[in-house]
Amino acid sequence: MSPKPNLPVIRTARFALVALAVSVLAACAPAPVKTPPPALQAPEAPPPEPAKPAGPKVVEPTAAELSQFRACMAGLRAPAKAAEVTDAAFDQYAMTVSPDMGVLPLLDRQPEFTTALWDYLAALVDSRRIAQGKERMATYAPLLAQVQVRTGVDPATVVAVWGVESDYGQNFGQRPLLQSLGTLACFGRRQAFFRSELFEVLKIAQRGDVRAEDLKGSWAGAFGHTQFMPSTYNRIAVDFDGDGRRDLVGSIPDALGSTANYLVKSGWRTGQPWGYEVTLPTGFNAALAGRTNRRVLSQWQAMGVARVDGGTIDLPADTRSAVLLPTGINGPAFLVFKNYDAIYSYNAAESYALAIALLSNALRGQPGLRTPWPTDDPGLGRDERVELQRLLSARGHDIGAIDGVLGSASRDAIRKEQARLGMAPDGRAGQKLLKALRAGD
Ligand code: CA
Repeated sequence: MSPKPNLPVIRTARFALVALAVSVLAACAPAPVKTPPPALQAPEAPPPEPAKPAGPKVVEPTAAELSQFRACMAGLRAPAKAAEVTDAAFDQYAMTVSPDMGVLPLLDRQPEFTTALWDYLAALVDSRRIAQGKERMATYAPLLAQVQVRTGVDPATVVAVWGVESDYGQNFGQRPLLQSLGTLACFGRRQAFFRSELFEVLKIAQRGDVRAEDLKGSWAGAFGHTQFMPSTYNRIAVDFDGDGRRDLVGSIPDALGSTANYLVKSGWRTGQPWGYEVTLPTGFNAALAGRTNRRVLSQWQAMGVARVDGGTIDLPADTRSAVLLPTGINGPAFLVFKNYDAIYSYNAAESYALAIALLSNALRGQPGLRTPWPTDDPGLGRDERVELQRLLSARGHDIGAIDGVLGSASRDAIRKEQARLGMAPDGRAGQKLLKALRAGD
């Protein structure tokens, strides 16, 4: 089970960064490959939007919509009660909500910009996230050691999930959950799903696990340090600090303990690595790659699959494993084990799982990939995106806030500069453009 709704459109749109929304479908390798395809343009889940001081602007309903909403909510009282939401809680938390019609277009939003995997990883596994993750590992070392003792999940993995999910608690999302889920429960095409999530979040409020005013998250309902959906919250969250409440917003011990618990429930194997970057034998059949094309470790080793750093793989010969070629036969290759699947289950996206896996390696102090991604124009980290925006702004482009988020205004400015420099005006921010602007070209 995933903490997020298992729908690409919802998973993708829990982030406001439309410009980084993407498609899993764009396969590029010529070799016939089973699932998942070695996609050049793979990532399903763009990096979270940076924290903003104020939440998104609410779109008020018309009088008719408000009337429809009131009737709908009144009709949900009985099914909510059947789902163990008390009348008192329903009156207090649900009947006082007004809809935000602004969340409805997000249900059907199509990505306007396709992000290459290396761009996605450049933003999610950047120097800032690595540095902050190491700080968190030091600050919370005693807690993380306790989490490891009680769950078997190591500190770097827990902190890597935290970093990718909410930027270490710096980005929870700003939309009031009761308002968003109430709206989606009464309008739009996924009402049954969102009603169920609305009832789950009402139970969280009813129990007093999280203060009602702290129930803010993505438009689709993921929230807190771990960005769990309410149903996942109720199923997986643990009261790690023992104060009697499962608070994944206000308690870092509860949040990190719950992240580890999620991985345990997803089959975590204590002490095993998620996987390794590997070299493949000449002529390796790319059709053998894919997370679900599993073989035992000894079979891969017999074919000549080996760690890129020459190290040994200290696991039983019958360990179930798979080869990943996320950008095809010419990019980095990975041999992954059960713990990669556990990480994958967190958001059911290959790009997302890879970001956590590679961030966890970096947090362990391990070197980055030996094999470059198949591009001559690598992507930008968030600080580099800020620098690029400053350079664009200095050239007179009106790009709005300089926040490292490349929205449509930044993309437009990038296209103009690319055209001026004789580059393909695709709106993509890469090292080549940054270097050219830095050099004053
Ligand atoms: Ca607690």
